[in-house]
Amino acid sequence: MAKRAEEVVTRWQGAARVNAIAPSGTVAVTQKVRDLAARGVTVINMGGGDPDFATPEHIVEAAVHSLRGGATHYVNSLGIEPLREAIAAKLERENGVRVSPGDGVIVTPGAKYAILLALLGHLDPGDEVLVQDPAWVSYSAMIRLAEGVAVPVPTLPEEGFRLRAEALRRAASTRTRAIIVNHPVNPTGHVLDQEEIEAVAALASERDLLVISDEIYERILFPGAGHRSFGARPDLADRTLTVNGFSKTYAMTGWRLGYVAGPAGLVRPLRKAQEHSIYCVAPFIQAAGVAALSGPQECVAAMQAEYLKRRDAFLRAVGDVPGVHVAAPGGAFYMFPRFDVPGVPAARLAELLLEVGGIAATAGTEFGACGEAHLRFTLRVPPENMPAVAAGIAKALGSLRSARG
Ligand code: PLP
Repeated sequence: MAKRAEEVVTRWQGAARVNAIAPSGTVAVTQKVRDLAARGVTVINMGGGDPDFATPEHIVEAAVHSLRGGATHYVNSLGIEPLREAIAAKLERENGVRVSPGDGVIVTPGAKYAILLALLGHLDPGDEVLVQDPAWVSYSAMIRLAEGVAVPVPTLPEEGFRLRAEALRRAASTRTRAIIVNHPVNPTGHVLDQEEIEAVAALASERDLLVISDEIYERILFPGAGHRSFGARPDLADRTLTVNGFSKTYAMTGWRLGYVAGPAGLVRPLRKAQEHSIYCVAPFIQAAGVAALSGPQECVAAMQAEYLKRRDAFLRAVGDVPGVHVAAPGGAFYMFPRFDVPGVPAARLAELLLEVGGIAATAGTEFGACGEAHLRFTLRVPPENMPAVAAGIAKALGSLRSARG
């Protein structure tokens, strides 16, 4: 019996599409922090992408009310009508993106699933998709799951991680079918300027590409930065799927609520993938989404103001640590400093920072090769903790120097 069980295990080693991807680096850091906490070791957790704020009360109440009201059954696979209407209204009002609530919006369990749906709905095996490097850890893995090929578009720290027309053109080939663009960018916090947006638009139009615009951080912007949506451009509206969600703007990561929106023709193939996979998002979770979009927005402004304080405190404290270079991000809630530690891979640096400095951060290389020599710190700790963060970093770097003699 034991032998048979062993044989079965050796036969089922996972499909090629899963074996080709690595586990999520950010999920792994968060789990490491949980494991340490279970052993009684507390660290300053700046690893994952989860805000430390509680979901605003009026949003929680809306879900409880809906649940008590019996919203516990399957609903329309696209999403409940009031939420699709609220999303379409929000996109028009805030982003200048016009979509039909009837057939241009799908409510998904998180923006993550919205991106996977877009890829499953439109990629054929071997299709290439351009992705910023560095960029969020899951794009290339999800492209692989959809049997496509992720092609990185390098962006460089010495150029402020700007997306350059030449880099886009070099990465494009006759097999390129789509481009995923995210801004404010996770992990760099960079916000695309007009020239970068024009470069994406020109390439997408010339090469007939699908644009998947991930706008999850659009509301977390610092003074001087302005977010523009690709789907608002007349030359891109027909080819753009806009992805967004509630996780970051309303501190709702655990609720798993997001959406994809665009022209009905582009949304149609995604609907089949939704129906045969998750069917629909829990209706009481969707009721919370209606409250988030239609209710008071002061909570968003308050979180934004706090992120700004944290950003500036991080800049002040960590900017003074020798061998660390920190730039001010235009948006999102991450800091992405560069470390002068030649020969030490970012992954090793992250380990050292956790073990010696007591701070969890994510190695820049989790986000692509251009993230080497960088670590990503999530602004999920209050400003007064930033000197302790700087001290932890200094301690880790000090241990490296003394180990080298
Ligand atoms: N897109 C980016 C750029 C992200 O950083 C994240 C989460 O970290 C997501 C999408 C996924 O968000 P959600 O929680 O809505 O699935």
